[in-house]
Amino acid sequence: MQVKYLESNIKIFVRTSIIIFTVFTSLLIIFSVAYAYASLKAYNIILIAFIVLIAICLLVLSLMCMAIIYTYRNRKAGGFLLMLTKAGMQIMLPLALLFAKANSQLKKHIRFFYIELNNIVVESDNKKYKAKEIIILLPHCLQNSECGLKVTSNPGLCRRCGKCKIGELLDYTEKRNIGVFIATGGTVARNIIKQNKPKLIISVACERDLMSGMLDVKGIPVIGVTNQQPNGPCINTDVDFSAIRNRVEQLTY
Ligand code: SF4
Repeated sequence: MQVKYLESNIKIFVRTSIIIFTVFTSLLIIFSVAYAYASLKAYNIILIAFIVLIAICLLVLSLMCMAIIYTYRNRKAGGFLLMLTKAGMQIMLPLALLFAKANSQLKKHIRFFYIELNNIVVESDNKKYKAKEIIILLPHCLQNSECGLKVTSNPGLCRRCGKCKIGELLDYTEKRNIGVFIATGGTVARNIIKQNKPKLIISVACERDLMSGMLDVKGIPVIGVTNQQPNGPCINTDVDFSAIRNRVEQLTY
């Protein structure tokens, strides 16, 4: 079931990429035809410049696209390929999102694909971290909506009643000496990162917030774990605790 879902994610990414390439190829043809019929020298030069520019863009995008597919299929990358994949994640996937603007389902798939690819890229570095170098960022919607405790400002106030996953996560992270922060939004998350200067962030959020957060954070690797939304977005969300624990165990000494 999971493999099938991942397969459909990559198919949608490839389909969106084809649309992008079609647009650029059409532009290339249009400018080529205009060049063939133009008579003014300057006009010709501008057209040639455009053609060369678009051809270079197509080449670079093709290389990025191939690197992304290779990395995703092989679940790892290194050297130049990893560099191309990272560049592709900054350019190709936001572009794919832009082209999928009107289709929310398509955007969802692209975001899931981005998060998974990002995790592969982070793990490809084969780096291990000390527990104190990691922070776990949780969304406030993980807290049970009937719980009145101000765990967002101080997670230590949690009474570990078992009504949400925050208690379980705190039990585990206390044992491992890992910092946990509950962010109420992007700005708060940014401030937490600025103040704590972690070497690795494990972030839990919906696919939309995760992707924008990952694009936002520069220079610090982020592992994304998407939350589940059994009650709809932003209220009483849930997360697979073992998914977080496995990531921590895999990436720490
Ligand atoms: S586990 Fe903690 S945060 Fe969650 S509902 Fe119970 S006391 Fe509140």
